[in-house]
Amino acid sequence: MNFEQLGLAPALLRAVGDMGLFAPTPIQAEAIPAVLRSADVWATAPTGSGKTLAFALPLVQQHVLQPRQTNFRRPIRTLVLVPTRELAVQVGDILSNLAYKPGLKVSVVYGGVSINPQMMGLRGGADIVVATPGRLLDLVDHNAVHLGNVQHLVLDEADRLLDLGFADELQRVLALLPPKRQTLLFSATFAPEVEALAANLLRDPVRITVEAFEGHKPDITQRAIAVDEKSRTALLRHLIADNSWKQVLVFVATRYACEHVANKLYKAGIYATPFHGEMSQGARQDVLHDFKAGRWDVVVTTDLASRGIDIAMLPVVVNYDLPRSATDYTHRIGRTGRAGAHGDAVSFVTAEALAHWKLICKRESLELALEQIAGFDPTDEPPAPQGNGGIKGKRPSKKDKLRAAAAQERP
Ligand code: ADP
Ligand code: MG
Repeated sequence: MNFEQLGLAPALLRAVGDMGLFAPTPIQAEAIPAVLRSADVWATAPTGSGKTLAFALPLVQQHVLQPRQTNFRRPIRTLVLVPTRELAVQVGDILSNLAYKPGLKVSVVYGGVSINPQMMGLRGGADIVVATPGRLLDLVDHNAVHLGNVQHLVLDEADRLLDLGFADELQRVLALLPPKRQTLLFSATFAPEVEALAANLLRDPVRITVEAFEGHKPDITQRAIAVDEKSRTALLRHLIADNSWKQVLVFVATRYACEHVANKLYKAGIYATPFHGEMSQGARQDVLHDFKAGRWDVVVTTDLASRGIDIAMLPVVVNYDLPRSATDYTHRIGRTGRAGAHGDAVSFVTAEALAHWKLICKRESLELALEQIAGFDPTDEPPAPQGNGGIKGKRPSKKDKLRAAAAQERP
């Protein structure tokens, strides 16, 4: 299979060639013809498998083939929604690059930065808008965007946009769009909870599932190491030194932990820095830029960085704290092993988190031996079973623990 066989116009074939791409990935081979036919598409394909171009190439082609009617004000014809600001920038760059020669205008809008330049940028409209939902709605409220002409809607990381955190904003955006449109959903995961919502958004969709079987699945060596909670930073330092790791993405549970762990590593002489949602947008962008350029060896982050972010050749992901769900696990480790590269993913498993880890393994059909590293043998006992009972995959919260302690103290 090559790009020529997919029905792409010469201008886009040239763009693909300029990017140094030889052949479409499986998701591109399946999705591009479907999008060109104007079908709704519901696509599941592994992390790092090239989903962005699978929608970006055919959408830009649709714009080229159907020139807009007026030069006076460009109606927004394509809207791409993404869950994080960094992903908006990344997807926006790819679309801008493709849209440049055909003279299409791409606007990228996201929160955390001043709204005025974005409003100025949208004067005269835009052909394609890439947005995080919150800022898009702010711009609607400022009368800076009109969504009544949108013909193509993309939800990238669609399951994340469909989950509770974005539900209200997404409904508000959808209400502003024409009902007759092409809708495209892309993600590496669709948990059962969001399947009905996804199906509801689509009309007679082409369902594309690129299975994560051998050959298509990302080449990621996964490991799990048993370690005491208090020894994790020391173990991380040891692994970094022992394996001469450069460019390590470390996931922790909270913003506070990002600061704390990064600080401890930095004091130990490792170029580590935090990356989380409480930092200014400028600082966030600087960290990501400098990390990609190899100026930081370690970035300690929350699930903010778990979705979509494409760092070429990122070699190692560490789960210092385990993710909340198997879905988050898939996305976190998927920051490595992208575009056919090899990656390593290491998860720290404390006694307290063991039951949760087993659940993740079960859901992911993972069979990993729990390793022990000499000098870091765990001594913590697993906690006694406690009353968070039926909630699958939920670690006991502080409140749960307090409740359990209180219950034990009662006569
Ligand atoms: P996904 O959205 O599926 O996680 P991306 O669209 O971010 O993946 O692409 C991951 C990487 O694969 C990017 O660095 C991209 O440049 C690269 N890539 C995309 N398409 C191809 C292709 N056809 N051949 C080789 N590399 C590709
Ligand atoms: Mg993606």
